[in-house]
Amino acid sequence: MRCLGGVIEHNTHRKVVVIGGGYAGTVAANRLRRRTDVDIALVNPRPEFVDRIRLHQFVSGTGDVAVDYGTLLGEGIELVVDSATHIDTADRMVRLASGHALDYDYVIYAVGSTTAVPSVPGAAEFAFSVAEVESAQRLRARLEEVPRDARLTVVGGGPTGVETAAELAEQGCTVALVCGGSLLPSLSAPGRRYVARWLSRHGVSVLEGATVTEVRPDAVVFGDGAVRPSALTIWTTGFGGPQLAAESGLRTDTLGRLLTDETLTSIDDDCIVATGDAVAPSGRPLRMSSQGAGALGAPAADTVLSRIAGTEPAVVDLALIGTCISLGRRVGIRQLARKDDTAVNFYVGGRAGARIKEVTCKVGVGKIRREARKPGSLIWPKGNPRPAFAASVVTSI
Ligand SMILES: Cc1cc2nc3c(=O)[nH]c(=O)nc-3n(C[C@H](O)[C@H](O)[C@H](O)COP(=O)(O)OP(=O)(O)OC[C@H]3O[C@@H](n4cnc5c(N)ncnc54)[C@H](O)[C@@H]3O)c2cc1C
Repeated sequence: MRCLGGVIEHNTHRKVVVIGGGYAGTVAANRLRRRTDVDIALVNPRPEFVDRIRLHQFVSGTGDVAVDYGTLLGEGIELVVDSATHIDTADRMVRLASGHALDYDYVIYAVGSTTAVPSVPGAAEFAFSVAEVESAQRLRARLEEVPRDARLTVVGGGPTGVETAAELAEQGCTVALVCGGSLLPSLSAPGRRYVARWLSRHGVSVLEGATVTEVRPDAVVFGDGAVRPSALTIWTTGFGGPQLAAESGLRTDTLGRLLTDETLTSIDDDCIVATGDAVAPSGRPLRMSSQGAGALGAPAADTVLSRIAGTEPAVVDLALIGTCISLGRRVGIRQLARKDDTAVNFYVGGRAGARIKEVTCKVGVGKIRREARKPGSLIWPKGNPRPAFAASVVTSI
């Protein structure tokens, strides 16, 4: 469905419903306040913002994740504590789990990412996840039950797995990190070596090239048939996506990310704009990250504001500038990267790396507050223009 060239004729206020109050959704909601004639509703299932990038700290008891939306959202934004269950594009209504519905002129789809449901036998039943606050709460409760010297397994050698394993090791847990392929493949070789040394010094067994093929309540089974006792297994092999868009009849990629053009506008409906982890522009999504999500909230809001103003929305240009990974509370690594997100052979480690990581985490939330105070103030690294919208990529998905 198209809304008359994307411009809605109105004499009254426009209504924008932002679905999802994570990094992307809160930035977008705040930025929409650049216009005073926009009514903004932000739908989120919880009454508090979850600082997801600290969930591994929450699990280990070294950090908190709840932030009061009152300190993040600009005046006039209506926080609706509920879950969107359907986007009714014909009637322009967002249907909610409570049975209520919100009518809209535009939707900003910012539902983020979720735990990827693993297909490995036993993983869905017996493994835990740090990807969402509810699953992290279950994991934290279970951690309190297992004996202090129990053997734990973290499956997944990416940043989430490494941060989780490191946090637990620093707390004195005995951890094996099963990487599947290699440890942190997105880092440079020197960066990987640095992390591997830290993990080894802290007693983490890093199993590169090993794959878990079954999870049992008290063990993991490897591809070669070996069985390793595991009192608690944590699955971190990647994120999935909520299926709300797909279930609402909008085209998505295989992970449920909304397919959009390069202005972040749905390829099915000009009134729906997506952002954060939940968007796949031209079917070629950026890396899922809070860094990308916070920044993408701004152009998503700008696209909606352009459509309201009847001007052409800009294509997105965002350069991700490397990765920060914490190794417990005292050490971290800041891997530098080119504007296309590929790592260079330079990193900052040690306490300096930890400080950069902590500042980065604070900046993530700080940006939301700044945008609340001064809508339109967020700037983000550019210089990585994306290839022109490729309809062929989208139609082949
Ligand atoms: C342990 C951990 C550590 C991480 N560390 C880093 C890091 O160091 N650096 C980094 O860049 N990234 C990191 N990430 C990834 C980062 O957290 C995500 O990429 C980021 O949260 C995406 O932001 P978002 O706004 O798109 O979505 P989210 O932060 O996931 O927010 C989406 C919101 O939408 C809500 N929602 C979902 N469905 C609905 C619905 N139907 N109705 C209403 N609301 C809905 C969700 O409940 C959530 O509140 C980490 C992730 C984890 C789990």
